[in-house]
Amino acid sequence: MDYNEDKIDEYTLALLYLVTHERQEGMGARAWKGFDWETLNRLHEKGYISNPVLKAKSVGMTEEGFLKSKELFERHFVKEIKTLLFPKLTPPAKKRWEQIPEKIRKDILENVWCSKCRTMVALQLREGQMSGSSVLLKGTCKICGGAVARVLEPGS
Ligand SMILES: [Zn+2]
Repeated sequence: MDYNEDKIDEYTLALLYLVTHERQEGMGARAWKGFDWETLNRLHEKGYISNPVLKAKSVGMTEEGFLKSKELFERHFVKEIKTLLFPKLTPPAKKRWEQIPEKIRKDILENVWCSKCRTMVALQLREGQMSGSSVLLKGTCKICGGAVARVLEPGS
């Protein structure tokens, strides 16, 4: 069978996040190791986990491995809706943004220039912050997924 090892490694590392325990901030974590043996060996060679040959039922994850695992898990398995509902806005940006009537906010988010699509697109709002006295909204294009941003001048 000819399969894509890098992809297997990526998904296995992502799934390891589900079985992590003993997480120590900055020090990695441990994860149960009921996964394909050769894949675990490759993840070890890539520096994400400790040597899986040891007898323990779990394997040590390096800090890099844990963070990568978390990122991949979120990328592949977390339902999009969570990020849709909770864009991260700084408190002053949130305050300004929420002063704008909802209908206008909707119009603003649905008419953002995407330089990749070369047209006006809907912005998937991810974060917002103040830039001087303007509100800077950042997110991704709902068509191509590329980064897009919109600046709201004061009084607009
Ligand atoms: Zn686009």
